[in-house]
Amino acid sequence: MIDKFIPLASPDIRDEDIMSAVEVLKSGNLVQGVKVAELEQKISSYINSNYCVAVTNGTSTLHLGLIALGIGPGDEVIMPAFSYIATANVVELVGAKPIFIDINLNTFNIDFDLIEPLINPKTKAVMVVHEFGLPADIEKIRDICLKYNLFFIEDAACAIGAKENDVFAGTAGIFGSFSFHPRKAITSGEGGMVITKDIEICTRIKALRNHGLDPGVIGKMDFVIPGFNCRMTDIQAALLISQIDRLEQNIKIKSEIASTYSTYLDQDKFKIPELPIFKRHSWQTYHIILRDDFDQKSTILKLKEKNIGVNLGAQCMPEQTYFKKKYEIDSSKKFPMSMKAYTQGLAIPIYEKLSEESVYYIIDTLNNLK
Ligand SMILES: *Cc1c(COP(=O)(O)O)cnc(C)c1O
Repeated sequence: MIDKFIPLASPDIRDEDIMSAVEVLKSGNLVQGVKVAELEQKISSYINSNYCVAVTNGTSTLHLGLIALGIGPGDEVIMPAFSYIATANVVELVGAKPIFIDINLNTFNIDFDLIEPLINPKTKAVMVVHEFGLPADIEKIRDICLKYNLFFIEDAACAIGAKENDVFAGTAGIFGSFSFHPRKAITSGEGGMVITKDIEICTRIKALRNHGLDPGVIGKMDFVIPGFNCRMTDIQAALLISQIDRLEQNIKIKSEIASTYSTYLDQDKFKIPELPIFKRHSWQTYHIILRDDFDQKSTILKLKEKNIGVNLGAQCMPEQTYFKKKYEIDSSKKFPMSMKAYTQGLAIPIYEKLSEESVYYIIDTLNNLK
């Protein structure tokens, strides 16, 4: 047994990142200044997108984006039932209704075939989640949205650097969103980025993040809408800038770990995630499905006893108390795959510093589970 606990995730913040944050602290210019602008520029050139707007976290990206699009009461937003709860919360918070649909259990992404039948005059947007870092069917969903004149929104919180063919996750919709929470590939503790090719949406989000201040007018303060304070600090931006340079390497190492898991995990006991050839996974999470006779909760405890940190990957959102009370959906009937992923799913450790020894120890321990 390995005697040091292997956490599920471990952020990779290095001395060079810390040094640049220290420089910001010494400079005295702490909030939404040159470093935030540099980060926005750097990410937009990395993903070939026109505009990036940094904000406080990956939830506020989605929240401000929905407000900028004017989505509100009476509107419906189609989304997968299986995701982190923030995806559905933001739609509720603007007064619109999340319309949940089931996922494909091979990819954990929204089941494309279920989208079209749910589109009706109230539908305003399809919000996909690139679950665990694997892009959903970007091109197909973008085409459906074009056909019905809907907004295509990408919750790419876990998917910076992921691609479908040459299209970076987050860049195909009216807006996309990254999170910089410590569970994601690059981190500033908290942080988020909105991605858009639409100058009007960009301008509105820039106003919304800064109390409604018109971002186009320099030298004069004019507050044109009621906004929030969702500014990122320059300390956070500085932490992230040097991490971007290591992102490709980070994805490469995690892809190798994922491929080792997929090769050696016992597929009689665990269903492993599928990787379509025309997609690049960013491997924010490696998520497996336990065979029916394994109990999820006791498996988590058993693995903890063996010094392996594992956890649920995401939730079946309509099963959470607020949504269950409000919409009274029988998730087992309507979202069987999401329920399976929620009740039998397991996220196992994957990060750059995870040693080869640990990877094989995790594989052996899992394969020997009874
Ligand atoms: C992490 C995550 C979010 C929320 O991001 P925060 O930065 O924690 O607010 C939203 N959606 C998905 C799919 C996520 O994984």
